Amino acid sequence: MSQLEDARENLREALKSIGKEEYYSRLENPERFVEVNFPVSMDSGEKKMFKGFRSQHSTLRGPGKGGIRFSPDVNEDEVKALSLWMSLKCAVADIPYGGAKGGVVVDTGNLSESEEERLSRRYIDAIAEVIGENRDIPAPDMNTSSRNMAWMMEEYSNDNRELIPGVITGKPVEAFGSKGRSEATGYGAAYIIEEIIEEENLKDVTAAVQGFGNAAAPAVEKLEQLGVNVVAVSDSLGTAYDENGLSYENLVKCERKHGEVCPAGEKLSRDKILELDVDFLIPAAIEGVINEETVEDVKADYIVEIANGPTTRKADKVLEQKDVRMIPDILANSGGVTVSYYEWVQNRTGDYWSKEKVLEKLSENIRDAYRQFRDLRDEEEIYGREGAYRIATSKIVEAIETRE
Ligand code: NAD
Repeated sequence: MSQLEDARENLREALKSIGKEEYYSRLENPERFVEVNFPVSMDSGEKKMFKGFRSQHSTLRGPGKGGIRFSPDVNEDEVKALSLWMSLKCAVADIPYGGAKGGVVVDTGNLSESEEERLSRRYIDAIAEVIGENRDIPAPDMNTSSRNMAWMMEEYSNDNRELIPGVITGKPVEAFGSKGRSEATGYGAAYIIEEIIEEENLKDVTAAVQGFGNAAAPAVEKLEQLGVNVVAVSDSLGTAYDENGLSYENLVKCERKHGEVCPAGEKLSRDKILELDVDFLIPAAIEGVINEETVEDVKADYIVEIANGPTTRKADKVLEQKDVRMIPDILANSGGVTVSYYEWVQNRTGDYWSKEKVLEKLSENIRDAYRQFRDLRDEEEIYGREGAYRIATSKIVEAIETRE
């Protein structure tokens, strides 16, 4: 099943379970989808054509919101699926946004920095008519960073002859970004884990984290501060494993020095991290890793999905039977979009907040979203992903029924 088919099936099931299946045809497709084809001047002087997309799934709960990815594999269906997930994520996190996503078909490894800058500027020019601080607000995603966002914000502002920082989020702090954004996704997931530890009164808690990038590394840092024993951390090259617990500081040092999280303690092959008997398994790298082949070996009690779409629909059915507690991506990684929203609020009010204030608000917001999810899941005795989808679809349907 493709990502889009998976996303639509989950949507259909959630709408059915809240007795609102009639809205499926309204929500299965984006409100607006644009394909753009635009030229970029290469360093050689040649002009090369690139293809990009922007999918605005829904603006029912607020302006569209979602990242821009640069990847040779980006395609129409992927962007549509990701934009639908964004609508659900903003609803479950209770952020006043709809959902959107964009992408450009490009291998950035083949571009110089100045070519990448021109590509970023031309893409934003190409979609300028459909975005805006009250319409649709892009952000970074795979292979785009705060640097790309700064170029895009500047280009959009130049075209409009005024500074419009709120048109895009994930900008550098020096260019109207928000403090605390780089920690937001990982810390958000860790705040949820802290809630679970307290409510279940868990002791000697262990975790394994797949990935050590922008989202995963701050999660490891915060979990260590909370006293969780992070026994394994993997990256694309291998797994660092020590049943006595890894040190965040050492992982960072090693990564800086060797470009990998270095084997510490016992050696473990990369993908074996999914099979560890830990309290919390935290996939925070790539999609589809918990699938038909790997799911039977999963032994963790909880899965907290920091990555987008790390578990397939078929694997979900097995995890549900095994009674694994699932904290799904649309809730677990919503810290990132929450602080993006704070960035937009700061841009529009001109009132810039301290990092402490940002993280305090994030902690409050994500814990509230988690508690709402937990109450529904426990009352209805349903699987975690179903609970989060029910909350998200109920809020979107409420917006339709209230507004129309
Ligand atoms: P990133 O590129 O910074 O990091 C990815 C990490 O995954 C790297 O450490 C890489 O070595 C590792 N990795 C790649 N393949 C692997 C494999 N097969 N096994 C183990 N590790 C592997 O990316 P990121 O921003 O941290 O995003 C990771 C995931 O989190 C993505 O699914 C992304 O959509 C999701 N996410 C990120 C944010 C955010 O704020 N960064 C927000 C929401 C969701």
